Amino acid sequence: MAVLAKTIAETRERLAAARAAGATVGLVPTLGALHAGHVSLIRAAREETDFVAVSVFVNPPQFSDRSDLEAYPRTLDADLDVCRRERVDLVFAPSAAEMYPDAFGTTVRVGGMGEKMCGAFRPGHFDAVCTVVAELFGIVRPDVAYFGEKDAQQLAIVRRMTADLNLPVRIRACPTVRDPDGLALSSRNARLSADERRHALALGRALVEARKRIEAGDRDARALAEAVRDRLEAAEGLDLEYVSAVDPDTLEDVDRIRDRILMAVAARVGPARLIDNIVLRNLEAE
Ligand code: AMP
Repeated sequence: MAVLAKTIAETRERLAAARAAGATVGLVPTLGALHAGHVSLIRAAREETDFVAVSVFVNPPQFSDRSDLEAYPRTLDADLDVCRRERVDLVFAPSAAEMYPDAFGTTVRVGGMGEKMCGAFRPGHFDAVCTVVAELFGIVRPDVAYFGEKDAQQLAIVRRMTADLNLPVRIRACPTVRDPDGLALSSRNARLSADERRHALALGRALVEARKRIEAGDRDARALAEAVRDRLEAAEGLDLEYVSAVDPDTLEDVDRIRDRILMAVAARVGPARLIDNIVLRNLEAE
């Protein structure tokens, strides 16, 4: 169980055998440093598909900042233990050369959805994410691929790409897993000092406040985003990048909340760039 495959050829071979035996395939793409957020995706895959593959690949082109790429935690042995415990069938952990051989020349270009919010601060990031996700889909050919709502913009963009390119994969979204104090789990949290971690809690708290106001009937998305912004700009130890109130599928700005809203924030806290969001759906239409 939890066979480690470092090459595309071996991965294909294992998957071909599973598919020949009639198994449905679930894929959980990750950058590794697995935590309970990743585990929730793995468990959903374990429940819903017969053969679960987890990819562990720190994808260099999606890091705009070299120091962020170098500091990103790499914990393959611990990740393999997690995958064994969760009864993962295959861990695909390729090298960069395996994924990007010398002749590699294609980049998926995301439109406007990839240029706002995080995309405005990380140019080319979502192009690189979609390129590697499309490549992983080609290698693993999953029936279902699992993504976290924690990365809500990534989720919307991957859904768009999958629909636009008619890729034969179902995208499943899983809710954000948080620590008991409300901090959204992230591999980058490991870089926070105790003080920085305390400062980071402001993100989740501001979103909880916005959620309460929406649930109480407040429908003015701009004013709500403004309130979140004011609160986070005043928060200690936190360098706010953006607050956005958008449609969770199209990422288009929303002025007046009708049935669905994604309120997303990003900020730098010490050495880490953190993101968080809330998604509210099926709100009563006015
Ligand atoms: P990453 O390794 O950070 O690229 O994350 C791999 C997948 O796990 C992505 O689909 C993320 O959205 C998802 N993920 C990361 N953190 C969480 C979390 N706290 N809760 C749920 N899913 C998460």
